[in-house]
Amino acid sequence: MALRINDSEYYAIDAHSHLGRRKTPLGHGVASFLGDDLVRNLDEAGLDCAVAFPLGASYTDYSEANQIMAEEMAKHPKRIISFCRINPNFGPQASADALEHCLGNLKLKGIKLHPEIEFFDPNEAELMEPIYAAARRYHVPIIFHTGMSSKASPGVIAELAAKYKDVPVILGHMGVSEYVKLAVAVARQNENIFLETSVVGWMPLLLEAFRGVGTSKILFGSDHPYNPLSMEVEKISRHVTRAAKLNQEDLKKVFSANFLSLLKWEQRV
Ligand SMILES: [Zn+2]
Repeated sequence: MALRINDSEYYAIDAHSHLGRRKTPLGHGVASFLGDDLVRNLDEAGLDCAVAFPLGASYTDYSEANQIMAEEMAKHPKRIISFCRINPNFGPQASADALEHCLGNLKLKGIKLHPEIEFFDPNEAELMEPIYAAARRYHVPIIFHTGMSSKASPGVIAELAAKYKDVPVILGHMGVSEYVKLAVAVARQNENIFLETSVVGWMPLLLEAFRGVGTSKILFGSDHPYNPLSMEVEKISRHVTRAAKLNQEDLKKVFSANFLSLLKWEQRV
């Protein structure tokens, strides 16, 4: 499997996708989407691997969903990198216990947080510090949903992220629209903050991000299955590549190298 762009092939990782089962289908008709479905779609899109976390479901602690993430990664170890999803509203001790289980026992590779669906403030130290502490201890990145809500503003997230410089923080969707400029600003100010490309769709904003922070701090992501993989791939591989004049080195970074470097962030010089 490899992604072909302008006659070159790239090992390609999607840094943002979802797996799981829900009782009710989402707006897109998706109620069950598991590893076999994801791998089939990765094959169709020419991607090697996807970072996946549970589908959103308010009012749950994601314990069942996180177990499924571990099982699906075990079935497809070369194709799926599973993150756990944590709902901080269950309290600091519950978050610490859940993360000990997910990162220590289940060996999940990162943490997904959604301040809007789970409805919490990402700068609320009491709820958030156990999560950053676990990420630090297990050397894993945290990916936040950003945009569409003031709770998910990159500026609010950066307040605590700036205090945990040894924890890589990915701003999923790079703020979507109204928060893209702020996402670019906090990524420029903080070595540990990275931007992920899914959902944001207005070319001037995408170009502002690529020019503003550079390709060393941008990760390709799709938000599949909410968004079709090919749509999100082509946005970057065809349109941004041409408009921002990305070269082979840039594409290698955006489609895999940047994400892989986050998994060994503590080894950086
Ligand atoms: Zn998502």
